[in-house]
Amino acid sequence: MNLILISMGVLGVTALVAAILLYFVSQFFKVEEDPRIDLVQAVLPGANCGGCGFAGCRNFAEACVKAGSTDGLACPVGGDPTMDEVKKILTPAAAEDTAPAAQEGDGKKGFDPAIAAKIKALATPRAAFPSLIAMAQKS
Ligand code: SF4
Repeated sequence: MNLILISMGVLGVTALVAAILLYFVSQFFKVEEDPRIDLVQAVLPGANCGGCGFAGCRNFAEACVKAGSTDGLACPVGGDPTMDEVKKILTPAAAEDTAPAAQEGDGKKGFDPAIAAKIKALATPRAAFPSLIAMAQKS
């Protein structure tokens, strides 16, 4: 009986030590990702067709955010409306200058309501772009 209890204790302590070790290792190797990648991906069609020259929409979103602009990048499936939304995410200041037609007359500027809803769903208080979140909340 004692042998069983000792074995359980040793295994329990070993599991606890391994869990703590894994936690700290995961924190050390954690990769911080630009939250705009999720926002850009949310406005892409999601066909993952490769028509843009990238393996899928996620790769295209990463390329857009890395480039910081949409120059030389295009999604033939979504076309100009999609690329306009991508531009608004990459350059929020430009989005404030151009109100979408759907919001004309209501005194608000910013994202299309459907896009704003997606951004709200993705945005968390920890996101690193509070101005982008504020724009989504205004609309
Ligand atoms: S062309 Fe558009 S829909 Fe197709 S993979 Fe590229 S970003 Fe996605």
